[in-house]
Amino acid sequence: MARKILIIGGVAGGASAAARLRRLSEDDQIIMFERGEHVSFSNCSLPYFLGGHISSSDKLVLMSPEKFLKQYNIIARTKNEVTAINRQDKIITIKDLNSGELYTESYDKLILSPGAKPIVPPIPGIEKINLFTVRNVTDINNLHNAIQDKSKKIAVIGGGFIGVEVAENLKEAGYDVSLIEAMPQILRTFDYDMVQILHKEILDHGINLLVNDKVAGFDTNTVLLGSGKKVAADIVIMAIGVSPETHLAKEAGLEIGKTGAIATSPMCQTNDPDIYAIGDAIEVDGKLFDDKWKLALAWPAQIQARGVADHINGQDFLNPGYIGSSCIKVFNLNAASTGLTEGFIQATKMDIDYETVIITPNDKVSLMPDNSTMFFKLIFDKNTRKVLGAQAIGKGNADKRIDVIATAIKFGATIDDLTEIELCYAPPYSSAKDVVNMAGYVAANIADKSFSQVSPNEVRNLVESGAYIVDVRETPELEKGKIIGSYHIPLSELRSRYQEIPKDRPVYLHCRSGQRSYNGALALQNLGYSNVVNVAGGFLGLSYYEYFNDKTLNRNPILTAYNFN
Ligand SMILES: Cc1cc2nc3c(=O)[nH]c(=O)nc-3n(C[C@H](O)[C@H](O)[C@H](O)COP(=O)(O)OP(=O)(O)OC[C@H]3O[C@@H](n4cnc5c(N)ncnc54)[C@H](O)[C@@H]3O)c2cc1C
Repeated sequence: MARKILIIGGVAGGASAAARLRRLSEDDQIIMFERGEHVSFSNCSLPYFLGGHISSSDKLVLMSPEKFLKQYNIIARTKNEVTAINRQDKIITIKDLNSGELYTESYDKLILSPGAKPIVPPIPGIEKINLFTVRNVTDINNLHNAIQDKSKKIAVIGGGFIGVEVAENLKEAGYDVSLIEAMPQILRTFDYDMVQILHKEILDHGINLLVNDKVAGFDTNTVLLGSGKKVAADIVIMAIGVSPETHLAKEAGLEIGKTGAIATSPMCQTNDPDIYAIGDAIEVDGKLFDDKWKLALAWPAQIQARGVADHINGQDFLNPGYIGSSCIKVFNLNAASTGLTEGFIQATKMDIDYETVIITPNDKVSLMPDNSTMFFKLIFDKNTRKVLGAQAIGKGNADKRIDVIATAIKFGATIDDLTEIELCYAPPYSSAKDVVNMAGYVAANIADKSFSQVSPNEVRNLVESGAYIVDVRETPELEKGKIIGSYHIPLSELRSRYQEIPKDRPVYLHCRSGQRSYNGALALQNLGYSNVVNVAGGFLGLSYYEYFNDKTLNRNPILTAYNFN
């Protein structure tokens, strides 16, 4: 029997659910309500219109209501806002925003995909500024129209994905951009040590990046920061995060979960089995931790959209636990992450005995002209050896490496499995031993205690406490910078000069990337040294780790100069 299925929200989740519902049944009546002017647009591409990568905002819209009707027999009503859900009578009330009229529609099944709205807190003076948010095509057009004058100063508040992408695109378009973040770092899907690489990239491209500084208020054309700094801004873009659209669900008595998002069953049903909810508005299970979380990403919305359409049509669907995989372009760098970060493990006090690996290999055979360093961090469980998370940043294909790790985590892989993953290889693409394999080798070595390492973020303390650090790079390399107070014994002379190194204290070895010093550390161990530690990431990793804070905190550097090659 034909059913009437209504969908609230006509973009990522809503439009995908509608299309899948139609593929599974020709009989059902499907009506999609969208408050905004457009259905089925590419939210994720919005920032790239600002940067000129997408020539016209019309191109952001992937499907029109007319196409939905013609191609799929789906009724899509834009500028139609659902204002109430009457669960008793299975009726929703809709306000036609063109005419202002209210009308009702009955349903057999209802799908909520209302998404999440930008958070705009009532910061003192907010009425004095020219404020914008970025959620839909109308928003991006409004912003675009407001910045026709290239001399405008723009402040983006919030260093999450949307804030960074908007700031990057505006900078590329030639504006004077400040990016303001209250936390000590942007993009918390990356750990503090890894994100310094992105801080540097943003600073080097001329964005005034201010971290660890909260917006305290606004004055006319000015952002006032907690530190007392004032940032001139003709335009302010608020991108401090999103909050799930739950008011309709709340008013209808649907259960709201502990995170403040809509609670659903594993089949994405709310506490009313005829009402499903998907996308940014719902909370989901963590796959790597035993709790709920909000994951405002397109992939979960897509898989849930397909899943509820299947479930409504009698097929099995179980909303999976999510590990959280994401990627972002930051000027010339590609950055991606999946699974747990150290920051998350520590902030949520997870009871995991974990270890990290940082490596900085070439992403391709070093003979290839476009090879570049891939900064890679792996996090694994010391007891089970299971892979928990990874982060990759580089000019090359960071997303490819992280996709492999995401797949590995999905199937419960261990660090030993990473050494055995058989990946495709030719010089233009990777090395015969890919970054992922190498991370597995290093992790296995550390887990087996065949050597130990420190991360770049531990070196400042070592230098300041007078630790014994040996630089094993060859002499010409030191001209480009060295660690203050370090000793120099090139790897090529280590075996003949090792007696110069004391045996009664920890010895830290570093080279350019951590590879030669690893060999040096093993040599010393074989020569009877019991407390040798490799500096992961080497001088390159250290240069990236120290640079942004050195430049912005006015502190004493621990390196005589940086070397980013
Ligand atoms: C600028 C930007 C960049 C992004 N980049 C990425 C990215 O690179 N990768 C990634 O994975 N994710 C990205 N996302 C997130 C991704 O777009 C969302 O996770 C996804 O769109 C969620 O789908 P959804 O259906 O839940 O919500 P949405 O796609 O936001 O759709 C919800 C729609 O419901 C409508 N609505 C709400 N209430 C009502 C109502 N009462 N009546 C009628 N209509 C209503 C809203 O107007 C909205 O258009 C980005 C988001 C933005 C804004």
